[in-house]
Amino acid sequence: MTSHPSPATEIDHAFFEREVESFLPDKVFDAHAHLMKEGSHRFAIRGIPATFGYQEVKHFSEDLHSQRRYAGLFLPGFDASLKQKIPEANNWVSEQLAFAPDCVGAFFVTPEDDPEWVQQEVRRLGLHGLKCYHTMAPNQPTFEAEIPDYLPEPLVAVANQEGWFITLHIVKKHAVADPGNLYWIRRYCERYPHIKLILAHSARGFQPAHNLAGLESLRDLNNLYFDSSANCEPIAHQAIVRLFGHKKLIYGTDFPISHIKGRCVAIGDTFLWLTENSPIWNEKHSAIEPVLVGLEHIRSLKWACWSEKLVDSQIEDIFWNNATQLFGIQKS
Ligand SMILES: [Zn+2]
Repeated sequence: MTSHPSPATEIDHAFFEREVESFLPDKVFDAHAHLMKEGSHRFAIRGIPATFGYQEVKHFSEDLHSQRRYAGLFLPGFDASLKQKIPEANNWVSEQLAFAPDCVGAFFVTPEDDPEWVQQEVRRLGLHGLKCYHTMAPNQPTFEAEIPDYLPEPLVAVANQEGWFITLHIVKKHAVADPGNLYWIRRYCERYPHIKLILAHSARGFQPAHNLAGLESLRDLNNLYFDSSANCEPIAHQAIVRLFGHKKLIYGTDFPISHIKGRCVAIGDTFLWLTENSPIWNEKHSAIEPVLVGLEHIRSLKWACWSEKLVDSQIEDIFWNNATQLFGIQKS
């Protein structure tokens, strides 16, 4: 077990008491948490050890959820420049699941992967779905990549055969308001009805105007889901709840991003990450001390649930039942 001190301070604990404690249900399923091994990534978040597996994520999750029961969907993590570390990252998630009750894991795919090999590897490693990322796309800048550039259709076909989920962090300037993204999301969901397509970060609606502009046209897709992770804009979550219903929204922390201090803010037609290293915190009459992204995130969900008038059982769905139903985890 890690002996690392957490980046959480008194300010974070006070925020938890004031904003989170009375809102958060007693079980938390975290559908977007990264597990990483030293040497395969370049994350350096104060207080977070270089290797983090199930025990560490569970430990640090207490900063966000106190002593609540915790389970998760674990995603492999590595640095984009260290592609040779991908097999190790996938193995690491698989190994960690051996002692992680109620948890599931994703297999990281690159656009070059052979679908049959992926099928065998996911089975061999006991994983349950796929994770992809735009940094693997061959085109530059990868922030403007189309979905098949980093998630080719033959991989989706295999996921369909196996009934897997796919966690997809879409990119492009206008996210889910982009016609290319809308085209591919619809095509994959319609042609491959047995996949469960999870759009990460509330459809990457860090600028919620993009969710308001684009999500309406996807309402009829029954196999489309959303993880809320790291998005701190209540309207981004509300757009999903209002257009798709609360059963399609699943909580996630995006650990270790949850343990950066600051938040992402919508501005203009885009968004901006403010972290504790941004030179802005002394600009007001009194110094501002940012809290953990993960806490800001939960507060944004609280505000979204309040605005959408959700009742306790619906909030419990977002934080546990939607995920365990989606991933086929037995009730306990
Ligand atoms: Zn992530």
